[in-house]
Amino acid sequence: MPKMIPVPDDLSKPFWDAVNERKLMVQSCNDCPTLQYPPRPRCQDCNSENLGWKETSGKGHISTFMVSTDTRLQRRVPDQPFNIALISLDDDPRINFYSNLPGVPVREVPVGAAVEVIFEEVAPGQLIHEWKLVE
Ligand SMILES: [Zn+2]
Repeated sequence: MPKMIPVPDDLSKPFWDAVNERKLMVQSCNDCPTLQYPPRPRCQDCNSENLGWKETSGKGHISTFMVSTDTRLQRRVPDQPFNIALISLDDDPRINFYSNLPGVPVREVPVGAAVEVIFEEVAPGQLIHEWKLVE
């Protein structure tokens, strides 16, 4: 299935650099306990600009899912229907990621199941994060 190829900007570059090292990082506020993703210029809770990065456990749970049947991404139309699962990060369940859950049949997503991050190469030297069920 064709995947998006990330185009990092100044804000997201640390995230993508970490992904290329097979690490899942999220922003971490230095002035309060907040973790956040996607990256923002300021902390969503205390408005601080004093933000760093923290490596996560790479573990999560499936909150819910939908099945894509009318994507607007032209190059993904031939792959439909496909799963889009919402993954809540165990380190902070307010943080969500989307996943196609490779290997899981369409419409058979086990909501509540544990998942862990994996990394897929989408271009030479460029990895992206994906998620798979924990055996
Ligand atoms: Zn904060």
